[in-house]
Amino acid sequence: MTPEKVALTTTSPAPKPRSNGKADNALAAELTRLLGPKKVLSNLSERLNYRYDAIQFGATPLAVVLPESTADVVTAVRAARAAGVPVVGRGAASGLSGGAAPTSPGLVISFTRMTRLDIFPERREARAQAGVVTLAVTEKAKPHGLIYPPDPASFRTSTIGGNLGENAGGPLCFKYGVSGDYVKGLEFVDADGGVHELTRDAYDLAGLLIGSEGTLGLITEATLRLTPPPKYTRTLMASFPEVGACAEAVSAAIAAGAVPGKLEFMDQACTNAVEDFLAIGLPREAGAVLLVDTDGDDLGTVEEERALVEAACLNAGGTVRRAATDSESAALWQARRSVSPALGRIRPQRMNEDIVVPRSALPEVVREIRALGDASGLPLVQFGHIGDGNLHPNILFDPRRESPEAVHDLAHQIALVAIRHGGVLSGEHGIGTMKRAFMRDAVDPVTLGALRDVKRALDPTGTLNPGKILPDEDGTHAHP
Ligand SMILES: Cc1cc2nc3c(=O)[nH]c(=O)nc-3n(C[C@H](O)[C@H](O)[C@H](O)COP(=O)(O)OP(=O)(O)OC[C@H]3O[C@@H](n4cnc5c(N)ncnc54)[C@H](O)[C@@H]3O)c2cc1C
Repeated sequence: MTPEKVALTTTSPAPKPRSNGKADNALAAELTRLLGPKKVLSNLSERLNYRYDAIQFGATPLAVVLPESTADVVTAVRAARAAGVPVVGRGAASGLSGGAAPTSPGLVISFTRMTRLDIFPERREARAQAGVVTLAVTEKAKPHGLIYPPDPASFRTSTIGGNLGENAGGPLCFKYGVSGDYVKGLEFVDADGGVHELTRDAYDLAGLLIGSEGTLGLITEATLRLTPPPKYTRTLMASFPEVGACAEAVSAAIAAGAVPGKLEFMDQACTNAVEDFLAIGLPREAGAVLLVDTDGDDLGTVEEERALVEAACLNAGGTVRRAATDSESAALWQARRSVSPALGRIRPQRMNEDIVVPRSALPEVVREIRALGDASGLPLVQFGHIGDGNLHPNILFDPRRESPEAVHDLAHQIALVAIRHGGVLSGEHGIGTMKRAFMRDAVDPVTLGALRDVKRALDPTGTLNPGKILPDEDGTHAHP
């Protein structure tokens, strides 16, 4: 995590400071009076645990509320408004852009007790409170022959509220879509404590809430679409002498008509980090490794698609290994799911970029980023959902060895590479505090103005998760 001293700046518009100098006690005391002691954390030792996400330290909250219902959320938001302090929604805090880390002392609403989950098999729907863990939806739907496809690698801990806050994706997103694609409707609490129940109709306000990182409203419940799982899946791993060949193979396979369920890429540094960790015989010498699942309900089509992918990989100069059994397939996907712990062995902290570029630009983008990493001297690995052009260049660092400023500068250069190639700053992790300094590079002033208008319309006092996504209007804030 980035150390606190360089972590965060206060935001605009800033919440009104309290004048009596006892804001924390007063807010916590008022919330305890309103909600009872079991739903409010007021001790410093408890509150300290709610100032960070997976990548960023922030300010220590004045109080933490653990709501059990939408009514509790309304009460908490109204109390924070009356106290003039900001409100930050928090799920499992597995976010990778600083979204759940407060930028100034205020109220954190942690949704982990809102875990009611109902499955409606006949409608192929689930109704989930915000704190439901992502994987729990599929686990509860499976006996009914249904699954919830959005599959961020963090799905054992991340929550539905956090997934919708970030519009999280995962390996299945190329064929099956991201979290927002599975939302049929949602309930949210606005900055005044008003409750709204939305469907995906005209103006699609629910769509606006999805991916807004808790800056426009707090999602309390959502109706999610479920689907039957594909009957058949086939897995293969291809290795390539260099990443350009890997990207070419992916483009050729898709152009030939294959729509793989999963398409994941790891560069050589990433493959070696995982092999050091798991020792499962990954090809250390390969410049790039591609993991592919083809899936569907018709075995012939699934195998046909696998053949198309294999042919594209071989034509591009790759070598192909088919998973012969389910357990071999599971081992290959274990490799991809182990990237995070494997990287954690190299350096304790990382800045996890999340750029998206046109697939055709991938070879050049990956090479340019590799060159930037080499020139910086910072450890850098690349992996990602290559089917969508979503790359995760990760800068690994230890603040005792590498300067956070150098890390930030490299992250900025990577963002500029993406923008130059017609890409965007974030595919699935959000902007948070981590990338808001880059928004001026990525978004033109007119569009940035429109985004500010949206924020003002839904949150005129700047109460909800201030200091995220939008850069300060006066341009004074530095990097996180
Ligand atoms: C090892 C690891 C692997 C990961 N892999 C992936 C991946 O494959 N794909 C991917 O997309 N992400 C991935 N992530 C990032 C992270 O898990 C996702 O962003 C996830 O959606 C965050 O969920 P959370 O419950 O932890 O949310 P938090 O981190 O608690 O919050 C995320 C954002 O949502 C807001 N928020 C939280 N709850 C609500 C709510 N109820 N209403 C409104 N806003 C809310 C927060 O304020 C914050 O801005 C990974 C993270 C880790 C640590």
